[in-house]
Amino acid sequence: MLERFRANGGEAWFNCTATNILFDEDKAVRGVETTCGTVETKYILCNMNQNMVYATMCPPEVVPERMVKLGNARTYSARMFVVYMGLDKTAEELGIKDYTIFLPTSADTVKEYNDGKTIADNCNQVMVCYNVVNPGFSPEGTCVVSLTSTFMDDDWANISQEDYVETKTAFAEKLIRLFEERTGFKVTPYIEELEIATPWTMCNYVNVPQGAAYGFELKDWDNMMPRMMMMGTEFPVKGLKFVGAASIRGDGYNSAIFSGDTLAKKTLAEMKAEEA
Ligand SMILES: Cc1cc2nc3c(=O)[nH]c(=O)nc-3n(C[C@H](O)[C@H](O)[C@H](O)COP(=O)(O)OP(=O)(O)OC[C@H]3O[C@@H](n4cnc5c(N)ncnc54)[C@H](O)[C@@H]3O)c2cc1C
Repeated sequence: MLERFRANGGEAWFNCTATNILFDEDKAVRGVETTCGTVETKYILCNMNQNMVYATMCPPEVVPERMVKLGNARTYSARMFVVYMGLDKTAEELGIKDYTIFLPTSADTVKEYNDGKTIADNCNQVMVCYNVVNPGFSPEGTCVVSLTSTFMDDDWANISQEDYVETKTAFAEKLIRLFEERTGFKVTPYIEELEIATPWTMCNYVNVPQGAAYGFELKDWDNMMPRMMMMGTEFPVKGLKFVGAASIRGDGYNSAIFSGDTLAKKTLAEMKAEEA
């Protein structure tokens, strides 16, 4: 995707943080301040969570009250927890043939959703073994397996800094134990490296509120249909549109990409209309 973007004249800046959005006297976008310099532009397609942007990157007077109310009415979607394990056995030796295995505890989605709210009750997980699709992912004779669990509430906010390491270690151990019990695969004796990422980690490194990499929860009043139907009012600040996980299509890679496609086309149409 990056190669294609560059081939079409796009420019990507890495290791660069957008810090502020600049506005003209009509409260329309006129640029972005970044740690690599200021970019002058009248159009921004932003894939950060909009609550973060309105709260930390815009002066309060440009943010319509409706967006503050919308931000307060919405709840966040899945908050992520991942255990990454570097194992000194190959996937074949461990008996793992699948790239990914979803391991809910039941087919009762209401129960799964409710159990996913707390650290005590959450037992859902998804295994991914990267070497199954990319044998060169790790050195010969090894493989990497991750176990991902999703939280449907902000229970990690209830953990104190003092208890953090103990809590994340205990939850990671629970996931590994449940994984072994449910699948019959043995991984514990072969762990060479282990890294744990919690919602705090996601919040810190990906800059997503509460560690919610899936944007806002989809609800009866706030799902893809109303968001798409209200695209005009969903982005009331002139020049500022939101794409990605917290945008019109909801969560996931495909939705993130398609929201970018839809809103880039809408922006191009606006640019053309302005030129005419
Ligand atoms: C562990 C895990 C497993 C997942 N599994 C799946 C799956 O199996 N299937 C699926 O469809 N989806 C999955 N997802 C969700 C998917 O990753 C997201 O929906 C998707 O990446 C969202 O894309 P995005 O562009 O909106 O945001 P991101 O991919 O989060 O990209 C936003 C980027 O912006 C950067 N950023 C933040 N603030 C600033 C700033 N101020 N200046 C500059 N840069 C900034 C962040 O560092 C980040 O790189 C998973 C997510 C996680 C965390």
